[in-house]
Amino acid sequence: MQGRRPLIAGNWKMHKTPAEAREWCAGFRDRLPAVPPGVDVAVCPPFTALEAVSAALRGHPAWVAAQTISDQPSGPHTGEVSASMVFGCGARGSILGHSERRAMGETDAMVASRVRAALDAGLRPIICIGESLDEREGGVTSEILADQLMVAIGVVRANEVDRIVIAYEPIWAIGTGRMATPEMAQETIAAMRASAAPHLDANRLRILYGGSVTPASARELLVAPDIDGALVGGASLDPESFAMIIEAAG
Ligand code: PEP
Repeated sequence: MQGRRPLIAGNWKMHKTPAEAREWCAGFRDRLPAVPPGVDVAVCPPFTALEAVSAALRGHPAWVAAQTISDQPSGPHTGEVSASMVFGCGARGSILGHSERRAMGETDAMVASRVRAALDAGLRPIICIGESLDEREGGVTSEILADQLMVAIGVVRANEVDRIVIAYEPIWAIGTGRMATPEMAQETIAAMRASAAPHLDANRLRILYGGSVTPASARELLVAPDIDGALVGGASLDPESFAMIIEAAG
């Protein structure tokens, strides 16, 4: 990881009511009252549980993040939630451009404007980038990833590189139980880092892997030199398995 701090982020997707979220936090705090030195941890509940999780994790080193935000500060945008609103609920970051949202029509340009809105509001964006199975099999993965990455980091200033996180999430690996091999993830992330280099200090850019990470697979993944942590979906819903993945990063 060459000096970059690993980050383990848990994406709960559309799971857990506020009461269930509080129960998760209590179990997580019991299991992992402190995180291993040098490791960052983020928990990304749905909007409706942000306040509950922020309160339940007060004093714990894990930070809280949303799963998306609007690119608009306020206004007639029914159903949308702004960066300052999630900040006010205790979030200090947000996942942006998750493939489940891109599948509903979110474009690279929309992701980029959300990245800017997040940075302007003091949130750390966790920007998801990934190729489909057809793109991987068609041999166009590096072009697809470079395109997504360039648009997203095009709005990031040189002095903001430490505030952003990229998550490489191959779409075919998300929620399928089919994790990319550590070799494939390392090779892909190293290529992404190289493609970012002309635009910002890529050695400082944190790039996570996401897609079917489990406690059993985490360690072999996290020792790869370019992989700076994991974005974890399914396995983050259980405090025990999330804690085990965090320990694997330590
Ligand atoms: C995700 O949703 O970002 C994710 C990586 O999910 P899973 O770990 O369940 O594949």
